[in-house]
Amino acid sequence: MTVQLTIDGRLHSAEPRQSVLDAARSGGIEIPTLCHHPDLSVVGTCRLCVVEIDGYTRQMTACSTPVADGMVVRTESPQLSHSRRFVLEMLLARFAAAEKPGYASGERDKAESEFERWVRRYDAHRPYDVIAPRCQVDSDANPFIRVDWNKCIHCTRCVRACEEIQGRMVWHLAQRGANLEVVAGMGESMLDARCESCGACAAYCPTGALADRMSYGGGPPDRLVTTTCGYCGVGCQFDLNVKDERVIGVTSNPAAAVNGMSLCVKGRYGYDFLDHRERLTQPQVRAYLLEGRAKPATLDAESWVAVDWPTALDLVARRFVAVRQEFGGDALAVLSSAKCTNEENYLLQKFARGVLGTHNVDHCARLCHSSTVAGLAMCYGSGAMSNSMDDVAEQSAAMLIIGSNTTEQHPVFGAMIRQAVLRRGLKLVVADPRRIDITEFAALHVRQRPGTDVALLNGLMHLILQNGWHNERFIRQRCEGFDEFAASLARYTPAYVAALTGVSETQLNQAAELLATNCPMAVLWSMGITQHTTGVMNVLALGNLQMLLGNIGIAGGGVNPLRGQNNVQGACDMGALPNVFPGYQAVTDPAALAKFSVAWKTQCAGDDSARSPARTVESVSTPGLTVTEIIRAAGARKLRGLYIVGEDPAMTEPDSNHARAMLAAAELVVLQEIFPSETSVYADVLLSGAAFAEKDGTFTNTERRVQLVRQAIDPPGDAWADWRITSALAQRILELEGRRAVGPHAGWNYEHPAEIMAEVAALTPSYAGVSHERLARGERLQWPVHDANHPGTPILHVDKFTRGRGKFHVVEHLNAAELPDAEFPLLLTTGRVLYHWHGGELTRRAAGLAAIYPQTLVEVNYEDAARAGLADGDVVRVSSRRGEMIAQAAVSDRVAAGVVFGNFHFPGNANVNNLTIAAVDPVAKIPEYKVCAVRLERVETAE
Ligand code: SF4
Repeated sequence: MTVQLTIDGRLHSAEPRQSVLDAARSGGIEIPTLCHHPDLSVVGTCRLCVVEIDGYTRQMTACSTPVADGMVVRTESPQLSHSRRFVLEMLLARFAAAEKPGYASGERDKAESEFERWVRRYDAHRPYDVIAPRCQVDSDANPFIRVDWNKCIHCTRCVRACEEIQGRMVWHLAQRGANLEVVAGMGESMLDARCESCGACAAYCPTGALADRMSYGGGPPDRLVTTTCGYCGVGCQFDLNVKDERVIGVTSNPAAAVNGMSLCVKGRYGYDFLDHRERLTQPQVRAYLLEGRAKPATLDAESWVAVDWPTALDLVARRFVAVRQEFGGDALAVLSSAKCTNEENYLLQKFARGVLGTHNVDHCARLCHSSTVAGLAMCYGSGAMSNSMDDVAEQSAAMLIIGSNTTEQHPVFGAMIRQAVLRRGLKLVVADPRRIDITEFAALHVRQRPGTDVALLNGLMHLILQNGWHNERFIRQRCEGFDEFAASLARYTPAYVAALTGVSETQLNQAAELLATNCPMAVLWSMGITQHTTGVMNVLALGNLQMLLGNIGIAGGGVNPLRGQNNVQGACDMGALPNVFPGYQAVTDPAALAKFSVAWKTQCAGDDSARSPARTVESVSTPGLTVTEIIRAAGARKLRGLYIVGEDPAMTEPDSNHARAMLAAAELVVLQEIFPSETSVYADVLLSGAAFAEKDGTFTNTERRVQLVRQAIDPPGDAWADWRITSALAQRILELEGRRAVGPHAGWNYEHPAEIMAEVAALTPSYAGVSHERLARGERLQWPVHDANHPGTPILHVDKFTRGRGKFHVVEHLNAAELPDAEFPLLLTTGRVLYHWHGGELTRRAAGLAAIYPQTLVEVNYEDAARAGLADGDVVRVSSRRGEMIAQAAVSDRVAAGVVFGNFHFPGNANVNNLTIAAVDPVAKIPEYKVCAVRLERVETAE
């Protein structure tokens, strides 16, 4: 039922709940606003949007007046212009910008603010050309947001954005009347008021009172380039602001599919690494390689020599060909990169399989979600997130977040969940050993001991069955293996589970009831679940839970593993894994082998077996080595050459002292990177690659959404896009081996990543309908996309599971590989922090991020700190059986007594991976980063 109203003499239809403003804007009519923004609640205070409505004796605010049938509205008239000019001049009277608005100003960072635009449009004037600032200009030390309350017009958009978009509530109105002001917290600095520096307040501010400090004063950009964030798997899109061929800022793009205007601190302000002085700008090789000397025992004294691309590529190609000829393709391995595009990952696995002749290709998914992929494939047939972030945030009645520090690691999605709690009463249960930020929004926080997730989940399911809260119909119609599974839960009584997990019986009952009696319920997890020797079992237990409750195939439910890096989902989809071709087509499947062998025929070494002893693709039927196996095999010289793209194993492998020793012993390490890294210390060749802003392609986010990455600037110096480097290397190897690369999917003469995606689509059923053209048209595609007309699949397993029937698995609690003992009495668990990303290669080179979080912190509970004689801020040595790290102690109750938390963002003796254990899950081969035994000692420092 719509209503009909007349606006400016023309008939318009509107929804009954729409405002006059919305109805007018839907009809293409512009009404000026300041306090109003479509993303924010309506306050109707500035009165700039006044309109005339027949039957009303006074002018009405269009933003807060609902439409009515037969209503007659005028949006422009001399009286309205007079009123609007009056409003603007009242605001101008207190707008103490350094210069008069509307005039050229050296300090302006945008072409024109919203406020300036309306001042110009209504020819408003203030009584004085320049008025003195009322308060300090640039009054907060936040490295990202410049605060100048002299420009504040009290529209409260910043206050509402902080509360309604970010769920943080940093800003408040204080005082009354002429003294009214916006303040952070209780009048403290933004960071002290727990600001997360997401920049939403500045993005919504219409005057520049809150502005982006990093681009302030730089003048308007030359162009905006819409692209996808290069940090986390949420997949936010934004506009890179480019001026003089540099990225000078990031601004929200309201049309962004996932995030709209919302961004986190890394996405909005973590771009300055792009022109950091340490960028690699041309290929380099170790001197011994150029001088024809044998590789020395250590590379410490070996200098780097800058070379041109033909020299570097020829040298690497000749070495790889020599290894293939002497030892076969399986003596080589490729580490692909979740930071790189889909197209680049596709080429890297094609290079490994089709050019080198090996399935030894893997990437960091091994270290984060390989257990998710394996576990979900076992129970549902597909290893990906089943639902979409928006349906989970908007339609879940309850949610279990387990092992995910969502607001720090997937901040924009974390903010959406905060909003779901605040706005519509989502019942949130957080299961996490730490009191992470999202627990403030939880109806219940259960604090299980690290490594006891199976016991906890089995205990919850025991109670669900006992109370008859399970979904019998769903189980019988769509699942198998239930009876044996149900019987296996018998021993997970509340008393038994409480003893194992440390969670009280009362809390177990509360959690079970909350999760089971509010439908749909979504489960979210991340590495707190996966990085265990029981990682696959943890995932199977979550799969069991959602089948038990029938929360699969419906909006607001599902299994929702949150993928870490920007394109870790895509790198898996593209087959940068040792056991699958693109689209999870198993290398052990003869049909898949034949398909790719035929498609890449000229790349298959076996096509010319007389010239090359390397194995053919047809004959390679067993999966290759995983990341951790590759590093160890290289150290043992079972592998004779590594091609590492955008990964930093010296930093991110568990037990990194051992990993470094292995890399040091390797015969040949070719590293393709954008910065020198911990791993480049062990590299023989450095190939200078490109960052996300410097190349075209696509990323696939955590919810299987494929999105365009657009080149905004050129790579620095003589750096190349990674797809171009791999293609050139492949061509050189084929040339040296006398192999011809022709055929629709066999060649390597790509001119643009769109051609590579066309090849992916032709060979990968789940990407069959994905193309750069569709994405450029704004189509929103989540795989599977079956053909060029298919709209994509926002929810998986709707009518049936990918494998047919969902399969319940019996999973039992097992202890972690190493538990605290008398020598190492504390349990170490690891993770990341808001201001850094993974090995910190990018974020430590982003000035503002590094300023806010400049060094590693180790979280210690009060009790353990007291026992070790530690105070907050003291320097502490944390030791395990494998190594030690030195860091600053952050003493609080954020971790429970007996647990210590560290991050892996800082190198050298600040890296928590010096301590972690290389024990792996037997199926997924994921290391147990989340549990090992350590001890603490205070380090005496000179004052
Ligand atoms: Fe980038 Fe993730 Fe932040 Fe979004 S939430 S801006 S994708 S880092």
